[in-house]
Amino acid sequence: MASIFSRIVAGEIPSYKIAENDKFFAFLDINPMAKGHTLVIPKHEVDYIFDIDDTTLAEMTVFAKQVAEAIKKAIPCQRVGVMVLGMEVPHAHIHLIPIVKESDMLLSNPKLKLEAPEFEEIAHAIKFYL
Ligand code: 5GP
Repeated sequence: MASIFSRIVAGEIPSYKIAENDKFFAFLDINPMAKGHTLVIPKHEVDYIFDIDDTTLAEMTVFAKQVAEAIKKAIPCQRVGVMVLGMEVPHAHIHLIPIVKESDMLLSNPKLKLEAPEFEEIAHAIKFYL
């Protein structure tokens, strides 16, 4: 069965898309740790990020970098934190999280509850810089 992220790529489940090319897709996390929290995924479904072949993983990192640079310009933050977990969704993904301090990356922090217009505004602001 296709992962929830493959279904997002296919357009079967809506998302706030940030960027895509033929191999990768970036969209806002639905339960963000901060405004602008974005997930970067390969379109080809692989569960564990380090099972991705070297060339694709390198390309995915560069794609994530481009998205992170746009996030950094759009969202007031000190830097964009990078995290890989994959404990919830078995489809490799890189979390890009705007942070101002180390504790902003703590998983125990409460997640933000944003309404659709806020997600749309954030996505629009990031896409402006891509
Ligand atoms: P992880 O697998 O890295 O532990 O966490 C998965 C992440 O995917 C979580 O931050 C969660 O909020 C996010 N997520 C799970 N389901 C969806 C979804 O349907 N849409 C979006 N945009 N994000 C999701």
